[in-house]
Amino acid sequence: MDRNNRQFYNRQHFHQASEHENCRSHNPHDPRRAACSRCSAHVTQNERVRRFTREKRDQRQRALHQQHEQAQSLRDRSAIAARATRSIPILLRVTADESEESSTLDSSSTSRSSSSMSDVLSKRSKRKRRSAHKSRSGIRGRLDVHKVVRQYPVGAQFHGFTVQRSELVTELDLAAILLKHDDTGCKYLHLARNDTDNVFATLFRTIPEDSTGAPHILEHYVLNGSEKYPIRDALLKMMTRSVYSFMNAFTADDFTLYPFSTTNAKDFKNLQSVYLDGIFRPLLKELDFMQEGWRLEPLKPDDPSNSEYVLKGIVLNEMKGVYSDSFGVMRRKTKMALYPSGPYGHEAGGDPLKIPDLSWEGTKSFYKRNYHPSNAKLFSYGDMPLKDHLEFMKHYLNKFQNKKVPAPRTITEEPRWTEPRELTVYYQENPQSKEGNKAAVAVTYALTPIKNDFENFSLKILSELLVAGPNAPFYKCLQESHLGTGMLSFSGYEGLGNEPYFLIGKFE
Ligand SMILES: [Zn+2]
Ligand SMILES: [Zn+2]
Repeated sequence: MDRNNRQFYNRQHFHQASEHENCRSHNPHDPRRAACSRCSAHVTQNERVRRFTREKRDQRQRALHQQHEQAQSLRDRSAIAARATRSIPILLRVTADESEESSTLDSSSTSRSSSSMSDVLSKRSKRKRRSAHKSRSGIRGRLDVHKVVRQYPVGAQFHGFTVQRSELVTELDLAAILLKHDDTGCKYLHLARNDTDNVFATLFRTIPEDSTGAPHILEHYVLNGSEKYPIRDALLKMMTRSVYSFMNAFTADDFTLYPFSTTNAKDFKNLQSVYLDGIFRPLLKELDFMQEGWRLEPLKPDDPSNSEYVLKGIVLNEMKGVYSDSFGVMRRKTKMALYPSGPYGHEAGGDPLKIPDLSWEGTKSFYKRNYHPSNAKLFSYGDMPLKDHLEFMKHYLNKFQNKKVPAPRTITEEPRWTEPRELTVYYQENPQSKEGNKAAVAVTYALTPIKNDFENFSLKILSELLVAGPNAPFYKCLQESHLGTGMLSFSGYEGLGNEPYFLIGKFE
């Protein structure tokens, strides 16, 4: 991007320099430059860099200022709220005074009682004010991770969850609490850490049964109207209403993930509500399926009987885009060819040619089989209290109480081959791509199944050391071989579920 900018700048500069006589000098202090009105906007490279850093600094300052203002306005608002609560006892006292006037019999006792009542009320409102201030400003005290571990001992129960493990991770200064939902078996991992950026994520194991893209379509589909939020594009709509720091949804080869993060407690609750309502109580309307998945649409909507029909749909279009990237196709087809018998032999995102095989009913039944808490994992991170999250989850998990838990879905191990196989994949030429329309060669090894997360993680690091960067041995040796020009960006270790593979390749 930087390079492009510079080129753009140079071009512009050259153009302007040839246009103007008086502004050939690059010295910003040259009076001739200042005199030229059109070139006062034209700056030298150094000036540009300086201006860029200045702008960045100003931006940061503006953001900080805004944050400050926001905090201030929140404080103001809580002050107004406090004033409002304070006015209540005054009003009450007016009524008490009136009664005092009307009942002249024992005025002393009423006045005493009224004052004591207002005292109690003002005390209560003070307490309310304090708590209102605390929640409104969103300021949370420093979290003590040691205390969290003591708060959630193994075996303790909270809102239908039982603590299974509770450990302190001193290296990262966090407390890790693993819980299990008693009724559904849903696992919940919470990492308590003194970090205001709080994360919440819901994960489902969505093992594809074919290449029609049911997991991917559902990922779009569930966030398009739920019982509480019957609106389209819930995430998009939240983007303008939320102060999120992250918000998205992903479909991977064997799972679907719904993560978000925010620093504000109220915002956290809102996002959690939108996500969980979509995930656990979606409407799954047929029209939305046609919108998100696929549909046939006449090219001439006014005259459908004499019109040609085209396939349309958000996921279909997205996957068409994915499949127009030549190396992307290579990576996907390699993975599928390496594990042909199991779920990794399918395209979880949906093969554009297979997506139209998926029906609305098929998608709903895939939802029923997979979007069950027993097939889900929940995750949260940050300094917000775990108990609140668990209580919130209770409302969504309650409806699964005393209901049949579907059989856990497992992935069978791919039988290992006795000899290597060769695969040739063709892709459609992309006229817009300058670099993509090239041939590429890769060698891929299926590794032994790895069930240990730590081993998986370590191998990923080892792979980075072996493959990535100019000093990596694989990179060096392949570059020096002068076979092809560049290394495939997805070279290296890929921990695909429990079926990892190692790929190394170059393009011409
Ligand atoms: Zn100029
Ligand atoms: Zn998508």
